Amino acid sequence: MEQLPRPHPRPDRDTSPYWEAQRAHELKFQRCSDCGESRFPVTPTCPACRSFDFEWTSSSGRGTVYSYTVVHHQTHPAFGVPYTIVLVELEDGPRMVAQLRAPDGESVGIGMHVRVDWEDHPEQPLPVFVPHS
Ligand code: ZN
Repeated sequence: MEQLPRPHPRPDRDTSPYWEAQRAHELKFQRCSDCGESRFPVTPTCPACRSFDFEWTSSSGRGTVYSYTVVHHQTHPAFGVPYTIVLVELEDGPRMVAQLRAPDGESVGIGMHVRVDWEDHPEQPLPVFVPHS
């Protein structure tokens, strides 16, 4: 399958601050002002208490792999296979899904320490995770 450019996010009223922070390679998430729940992805209301009030919080970008999958079946021409998607439990926030970029031969495992890194694209940098000791 021909490799095409990756589709890029289309920020809206709710997600613009999240994507704008990533232009400076900063990872942010929402934290509920009423109950303190952190959340990802961006949502207009708190899933725990339904509050509309929140603050943007900067994340260290460090965490551990909570779960993962290795994709072998290509479903979009922009994403060559195989690639690994990880669900990371951030040390200071919610769980976040992103691609894992690991050196050849390095295998992913639950509990693996990772940190966020950035894939720079002309339209929008995108977060990826890389192994971190
Ligand atoms: Zn809440």
